[in-house]
Amino acid sequence: MEAQTSATFRSLSENVGQFSLRDKTFLIPEMNRIGAHTLAGVFRSFGVNALVMETYKGLDLGKEFTSGKECFPCQVTTGDILFHLKAEKERLGKDFRAEDYVFFMPEAEGPCRFGMYNKYQRIVLDSFPELRKVKIGSLTSSDSYALNGMLEQERARDFRKAAYFSVVIADILDKLLWRLRPYEKEEGSTDAFIERSMATMAEFFESYGAKKDFQRILNKLEEIVKEGKALIDPGIPPKPLIGIVGEIYLRTHVQSNQDIIRMLERHGAEVVNASIAEWVDYTTYDRVREAKIHLRLYIKQLRFDKVRDCVKNLMSHGGDMLYQHFRQDIAYKRVKPLIDLAGDHRVAHLDKVLKKHDLYSFELGTEACLSIAGIMEYMHQGYNGVVNVYPFTCMPSTITSSVMRPILNRKKIPYMDAAYDGTFQPGREAAVRTFMYQAHQHCSKNGRKKH
Ligand code: SF4
Repeated sequence: MEAQTSATFRSLSENVGQFSLRDKTFLIPEMNRIGAHTLAGVFRSFGVNALVMETYKGLDLGKEFTSGKECFPCQVTTGDILFHLKAEKERLGKDFRAEDYVFFMPEAEGPCRFGMYNKYQRIVLDSFPELRKVKIGSLTSSDSYALNGMLEQERARDFRKAAYFSVVIADILDKLLWRLRPYEKEEGSTDAFIERSMATMAEFFESYGAKKDFQRILNKLEEIVKEGKALIDPGIPPKPLIGIVGEIYLRTHVQSNQDIIRMLERHGAEVVNASIAEWVDYTTYDRVREAKIHLRLYIKQLRFDKVRDCVKNLMSHGGDMLYQHFRQDIAYKRVKPLIDLAGDHRVAHLDKVLKKHDLYSFELGTEACLSIAGIMEYMHQGYNGVVNVYPFTCMPSTITSSVMRPILNRKKIPYMDAAYDGTFQPGREAAVRTFMYQAHQHCSKNGRKKH
C-alpha cells in the first residue's frame, strides 16, 4: 500500500459516524480480548458480519503513520486496522472492495484526544486511495454509545441491552481469570480454560443475544464458573491483593501493558482490574447528571420547551442506568455464591466518595473520576497495593497519580504508576518486584480483603 496526501477534509464528516452495517464486514479492534469477542458475538446475532481483528501485529504500521505525539492506543489501533486491511487486500486481490468494510472506533467526549483518533485514522485511511471507501463506524459517549443509524431503529434498543450484557459477562470472565490463575494447580490451565470459555460465551451471544435469552447465557456462565473453581489448589494461601486503575485501553490491552497483571502475579499478587462496565456506566451516569443540571437551569429560566427535552433525556438515560444496574446485579448474583469475585463499583457511589473527600469532581470529567474514587474504594476495602496503568503522558491518569500518591504514601499503601508507550523499560520488572515486596509487607501487617 502506498500513501498519498490528497485526502479531503469533507471525508471527516462523511466517512466517520454512524452507518448502516447491513452487508458490511464490521471490524472490531481487540482492546479487552474477551469483551471484543463477546461483543462481536452480539453483533453477529443481530445479523452483522462482525469480526475481531488481530491486534498488535501492525504496530510498525501504526508507528509509521502516526507522528509520535498521539497517545499509544492511537498507534496500536491505527496499526491494527492498516494491518488487517493490508492482509485482506493480499488475500482477496482484485476482489478487495474497501466499501465492504466498516472499522469500529468509538470516541469519548471531553479533553481526551481519544475523541480525535477516528478523525486522525480517517486521514490516514484517506491517504491510501484504495482504502478511502472504508468507513469508520463511531459511537460516542455523548449519547452513552447509542447506535442511531447503525442497526434498524426497532432493533437498536435490544442490541444495546445484549451488548451491555456481553460487557458484564466479559468482565466476569476476566475477573474469573484473575481469581483463578494465581491459585491454579497446574500452570497454564487457567489461560487455556478462559480462552475456551471466551469462545463458548461468544457463541452463546451469537446464538441467544438477539433473542435476549439471557437466562441461557447465565446458566452457561454458572457452569463455567463451577468448572473453573476446580482449577484452584486449595492449599495455596491468599496472596496480597492488588487493585488496578487507569486508562481503559492500556489497562485492558495486555499487549500494550506488557501483560502487567501476569508480571504482578509472577511476583506473588492476586490482581483485580477496574471493569469495562464501569466505564459504560460512567458515560450513562454522566448523561443523567448533565440532564439534571440542564433541567434545573431551564426551570429557573422558565424555558419550558427545553424542560420537556430535558425530562425526556433524563427518563431515557435514567432508564438505561436502571437497566444496566439490574443486568449487572443479576449476573453477579449468579456467580458470587459460587466464587468470591470482586464486585463492581456503582458510579453514583464513586461520585459520593469524591464529594465526601473533596478530591476531584465529576464536573471535570475524564477517567480520573473513576480512578481516584476507585483507589479510595480499594483502600477502604483493604487492598494491599494499587497500580495506575496508562499511556505515557495521559492527562487524567497523571492527575490521578498526583492526587492519590501522597494520600497512599500517608496511609502506607504501596502504589505504582505504570506508563506505557510501546518501548520496553528495563527497570519495570525491578519496580514491580519492589512494589510487590512492599505489598507483601503490607499484607502480613494488615491482612487482606477476605476472599
Ligand atoms: S493520553 Fe490519555 S487523555 Fe490523552 S488521548 Fe490518550 S487516553 Fe486520552
